[in-house]
Amino acid sequence: MILLELIKNKMKTKCPYCNYVATEHETLNYFAKPKELDISFCINCGEISKFKNKKLIKESLESLDDATKKEINKIRIAWLKTRSIQSVSKQ
Ligand SMILES: [Zn+2]
Repeated sequence: MILLELIKNKMKTKCPYCNYVATEHETLNYFAKPKELDISFCINCGEISKFKNKKLIKESLESLDDATKKEINKIRIAWLKTRSIQSVSKQ
């Protein structure tokens, strides 16, 4: 019952910066369900948070290791490109 498992794993998190509620998750290691201390990237405001005690808390980029910083930067660049394409197509 893979589908059922996916539904069961769906959880809501709220971005501590912009209060965006996310129900779909893509963590840096591509697991749908965030684990303790996973880093989360907000697709609404582009800020990063850490998953702790079943909720997202603010996390500063400076506290992360270099590999994670690089990963975040790549995601941010892709995210910014997507945002600019979307804003152009809305005009
Ligand atoms: Zn946000």
